[in-house]
Amino acid sequence: MSYKIDHDRPNCIGCGACAAVAPEFWEMSAADGKSDVKGAKRIEEGGEIIREELDITDDQFAKNKEAADCCPVNVIHLLNAKGEKII
Ligand code: SF4
Repeated sequence: MSYKIDHDRPNCIGCGACAAVAPEFWEMSAADGKSDVKGAKRIEEGGEIIREELDITDDQFAKNKEAADCCPVNVIHLLNAKGEKII
């Protein structure tokens, strides 16, 4: 089983919670103050990053679920291997 992080980056308010809870996976961008998923595939539209996607393993799920749970605007989504949204 594997999972995918799907970060709705444009709606991130830059609170820093994800990077505080799971710094192995999340960091704050010095450029615009929003968070980034380290090593993620960045999907851009009109020069703006509209989503970030990263495949993660079972072992990496719990930490990212914690990050998703603490996001105040619910822009961190986790999908299972079937592409079903868990959060
Ligand atoms: S917790 Fe949510 S709003 Fe806060 S920086 Fe992370 S993704 Fe953005």
